[in-house]
Amino acid sequence: EYVLINQSILPKEEAYININDRGYHFGDGIYEVIRIYEQKPFALDLHLSRLASSAEKLDLPLPYSIEELKVLLLSLVEKNTITNGTIYFQVTRGIAPRNHLYSRETESTLTAFTQVFASDKQLEDGIHVWLTPDIRWLRCDIKTINLLGNVLAKREAADNQCHEAIMHRDRILTEGSSSNLFLVKDHVLYTHPATNLILNGITRQIVIQLALNEGIDVIEEPFPFDVLEHADEAFITSTSMEITPINQVKGELTTTIPLGPVTKRLRDLFKNQL
Ligand code: PLP
Repeated sequence: EYVLINQSILPKEEAYININDRGYHFGDGIYEVIRIYEQKPFALDLHLSRLASSAEKLDLPLPYSIEELKVLLLSLVEKNTITNGTIYFQVTRGIAPRNHLYSRETESTLTAFTQVFASDKQLEDGIHVWLTPDIRWLRCDIKTINLLGNVLAKREAADNQCHEAIMHRDRILTEGSSSNLFLVKDHVLYTHPATNLILNGITRQIVIQLALNEGIDVIEEPFPFDVLEHADEAFITSTSMEITPINQVKGELTTTIPLGPVTKRLRDLFKNQL
């Protein structure tokens, strides 16, 4: 098994990270997770353009051009002969003695690894989700490696026998700890707009496009969590969970939601375009 550090593909055992990397000191970095289906990275360009946008928002220079990054990532996927799985990669603000103040001269560090991964069939009938306050910072649109709010929410969900946490800010539903949230009411799709309060998921963007192509109206508006009680259907989306139905909400509100035709249709459309 090989990993990527900057431009070198190395056996995992030989790869070391410098203790002074700002990724360790400050969580000062950004990342992406891309799904590999049958040896092909899915939506690679969309992920790379989101990486570029995260980098720009954090005044973090990418160490290589998008074209160079593409070549490096594809060579790692090939080297590890990944058929179905994911590639994780991150860019940190590089190696420097610990200091909150960053220099614009520091060279960013790129690291990447792959994981073999298949869709979890058990999730297809739906999952339980845990409703909890969103305690994250106000730039959730940036895909940073700083994920404490997300990590704590996920643990809380698991401690309550739920597969995912869905979060709300002052009762307005934002997103999952590692997914976006959609509701269906009267055949219309509802989701939080792509503001600073959520990550604009690549799967989210694709699902919205598939829905619109199918003549399903999509309303991107903030809504309070009480609407969960009146939803006809609900699902989450992410690179690893694709489109996963929600069948039970627990926590500050408890409700059961059936798996319905709009979720199923979108899931079929999603699978067909892979
Ligand atoms: N929202 C958050 C907070 C995430 O961490 C993720 C993915 O990990 C998503 C949404 C879904 O994004 P994508 O569909 O690009 O995987």
